[in-house]
Amino acid sequence: MKFGEMQQSARHYINGRWETGTTTGTSENPSDTREVVAEYARADRNQTELAIRAAADALPHWSHSTPQRRADVLDQIGNEILARKDELGMLLAREEGKTLPEGIGEVARAGQIFKFFAGEALRIPGETMASVRPGIQVDVTREPVGVVGIIAPWNFPFAIPAWKIAPALAYGNTVVFKPAELVPTCGWALAEIISRCGLPAGVFNLVMGSGREVGQTLVDHPLVNALSFTGSMATGERILQSAAARRAKVQLEMGGKNPLVVLADADLDQAIECAVQGSYFSTGQRCTASSRLIVEEPVHDAFVARLRNRLAGLKVGHALERGIDIGPVVDRGQLEQNQSYLDIARNEGAEHVWGGELLERPTPGHYMSPALFLARPEHRVAREEIFGPIACVLRADDYEHALALANDTPFGLCAGICTTSLKHATHFRRHAEVGMTMVNLPTAGVDFHVPFGGRKGSSYGSREQGRYAAEFYTTVKTGYVLA
Ligand code: NAD
Repeated sequence: MKFGEMQQSARHYINGRWETGTTTGTSENPSDTREVVAEYARADRNQTELAIRAAADALPHWSHSTPQRRADVLDQIGNEILARKDELGMLLAREEGKTLPEGIGEVARAGQIFKFFAGEALRIPGETMASVRPGIQVDVTREPVGVVGIIAPWNFPFAIPAWKIAPALAYGNTVVFKPAELVPTCGWALAEIISRCGLPAGVFNLVMGSGREVGQTLVDHPLVNALSFTGSMATGERILQSAAARRAKVQLEMGGKNPLVVLADADLDQAIECAVQGSYFSTGQRCTASSRLIVEEPVHDAFVARLRNRLAGLKVGHALERGIDIGPVVDRGQLEQNQSYLDIARNEGAEHVWGGELLERPTPGHYMSPALFLARPEHRVAREEIFGPIACVLRADDYEHALALANDTPFGLCAGICTTSLKHATHFRRHAEVGMTMVNLPTAGVDFHVPFGGRKGSSYGSREQGRYAAEFYTTVKTGYVLA
């Protein structure tokens, strides 16, 4: 099947069968809103419960499957995703609006994640310890946590589901996956590949639909043992309260307001590239985007002038057009939110440096130019996650001031610094209150085999990705034997 260019009809995958929904929805191409990417099935509470029951019924068998079987399944999924990365990347670009190279890159990453966890399925860790008592043996083993509800956002519609589904299956769990409403076709395309890899019925299920109905049913259902969520802070808070009330295991990856510090001794060309890539590529729709550029006084004006020039040269356009730097905003709602922040910034007294205009292109889409402001730390544009191609520059007196500004946020996902000083880079790595640090690199752009996640308001629960994913997708059992 070729998913890249045609309109699709996306159905749920429940208990090993493709099912129509109780209603249908459509997803559209943000680069050309005349184009319907797919008509997709939408589930209600009852249909979601069917998927949850199927996952619960499949659990006893799958949780005792051999590591080799799980490894083979995950490897097969990874191989197919990698073999079809161009076509699936095109689907991603059409539905989410990333540029085609970004879409292909994300799909390739999803394939690599499945292959990584194919290896991890063979390396499920355990420990044997000497008992403190005579004649007793102790061991610590890991078992699957159970039925996992996976709730994903729209901005990485292949990679984020991959980094949740792959470890869930690798460690012997069963899955009910709900993609975001704006990108159901990407979720369905992933499910279509998973459906052909030899998993027993019910081990993996896809249900599409609203967060309020499908998502909330997953969150509240007593048969769902663990919930892995990526999305906004507001939704994450609600999920945490409901999950805690019934003591479900929960992992939340939420927003960011990530700082990129630029010190006076930085290589300014490199710093500009870090800012452009980290703040504006993928239309700024990344939780790791550097939406706060904290620049030390001596290079502040030069940095702003050069960044402004660089922004003026960026090409915004249809995600499939060759040579485009930035695709459209994902939908009208997000575009309106971005535009409202431009007004908020101006009204609060932030100085507008560049961009933010709505753009006309040959196809009707949600296009805006990348925007830059000079802000003060108390401005909302410097405090709140916007999730669009809008960044602000904050002026720092010196390194200590820059570090304080970097940490002055309720978020704590990622922080970057551009400097040639080993001393400052080392100090920053130690004292940035985040889950990930970058030196002379954009804040966005991470490896797939090491932990991903943050602190403070950005994350809750154990880390995702790499072997640290075992923490969430397994539960530990301590065994004692009289020898
Ligand atoms: P969102 O919170 O609106 O939705 C995320 C998912 O939650 C969707 O599938 C949605 O349908 C579902 N949902 C909504 N209400 C629900 C409810 N009551 N119960 C259960 N599920 C519900 O977020 P979004 O707009 O899709 O994504 C953008 C956000 O995601 C941004 O804030 C961004 O920072 C964040 N994000 C974070 C990371 C990270 O790893 N930290 C990565 C990507 C995106």
